[in-house]
Amino acid sequence: MKIIAVLGSTGSIGTNTLDVVRRNRHLYEVYSLVAGHNIETLSAQILEFRPKFAVVATSAGLTRLIECLTASGLPRTGWPELRCGDAARVEAVRAAEVDTVISAIVGVAGLEATYEAVCLGKRVGLANKEVLVSGGSLVMQAVRKYGAELLPVDSEHNGAHQCLRAGNRAQVSKLILTASGGPFRNTPAHDLHFVTPAQALNHPTWKMGNRITVDCATLMNKGFEVIEACWLFDFAPSQVDVVVHPQSTVHAMIEYTDGSVLAQISATDMRMPIQYALTYPDRAEAPVPKIDWAEARKWEFLPPDFARFPLLKLAYQCQEAGGSATCTLNAADEVAVEAFLQERVGYLAIYEIVQETLSRMPSRTPRTVGDILEIDRESRVMARDLAMARTAGTAGTVTA
Ligand code: NDP
Repeated sequence: MKIIAVLGSTGSIGTNTLDVVRRNRHLYEVYSLVAGHNIETLSAQILEFRPKFAVVATSAGLTRLIECLTASGLPRTGWPELRCGDAARVEAVRAAEVDTVISAIVGVAGLEATYEAVCLGKRVGLANKEVLVSGGSLVMQAVRKYGAELLPVDSEHNGAHQCLRAGNRAQVSKLILTASGGPFRNTPAHDLHFVTPAQALNHPTWKMGNRITVDCATLMNKGFEVIEACWLFDFAPSQVDVVVHPQSTVHAMIEYTDGSVLAQISATDMRMPIQYALTYPDRAEAPVPKIDWAEARKWEFLPPDFARFPLLKLAYQCQEAGGSATCTLNAADEVAVEAFLQERVGYLAIYEIVQETLSRMPSRTPRTVGDILEIDRESRVMARDLAMARTAGTAGTVTA
């Protein structure tokens, strides 16, 4: 029996995780659920999974959660301990009973709790790529120091993890991450100027949260995945290639020194990698329909267009640069995507804001989680100023 904490239980990965649990109640017990603002969904999850600990982002959310649980008729003796705020997120992973943590909060808000789980030597199923993008060096040092198991939930890294099990790591020459190419794969450069949030949120193959969906459209997400892969598997950026594969069925490939390439192939459904992270090194029955090989199919593989998707290139450059560059990259992108979704800036401004924030922020070497959070905060302030200047039509007037 695995006892798990789900960070970000109300999101796309969180609900898929709970579906895997639902299908395997004899294998998993939910100890804690951590959500942000979606109180109704969390309340329903509490009624179904009966965790011992539940966390929401704010005190207003906590009040609403109490109202929901009262209305549900669940006797108070069956309620979990209810908490709110940053420190409570960290506490959700601390209980000795918790052996596995699924890290699926979006953004840097998931960093502290994930880092704590690593420092406690737990198994962490990592969906929240921002943890490694922002704090890769620190987190991986802690993984080694405390013997934690960091298992990738991101489908590409999960695929790479599976391919790497087939051979000797010293004989690996390259990791190839596939990218669907997003909704603008074939959009001419001059039309990108007119892209709307609704179009950017219309992902061709995956159903995900809003931020990652926009990041898929710009290929920023693939850039984050390059960074994540470098940390997870100890690759230099030059050893990680990106290939556009619109069908999203081949998730990753590993090239060995003799030129053999091993690929991981599975249905486009996050329950696959989530289940793998929970059952590793074993495998369980497929949580989704298997690929039907009797059906004719065509798979394409195309090179990415760095000119139309400059954020991908920027990610490589930031990982090469080291220090705080990737932390700033993540923070600035989150702010820029939010401004785009609120229609305060255009699609192309996402790159401009990120690039300009990077050029204005001095590079530093973060040594603690506190340092990372401070760099993240400063980068956001800078990116917000730049976004506001664009909204007001005064781009370029912000001073650092
Ligand atoms: P969603 O936006 O669907 O969900 C995000 C989750 O984080 C929600 O449960 C949200 O709570 C919670 N959350 C946000 N802020 C806070 C906070 N301050 N405190 C507590 N909880 C918070 O995102 P996804 O599930 O799509 O993605 C989650 C992570 O997984 C991201 O890092 C993403 O890059 C990564 N990922 C996702 C994939 C996917 O297929 N979706 C694939 C690979 C990686 P609430 O909704 O209650 O506000």
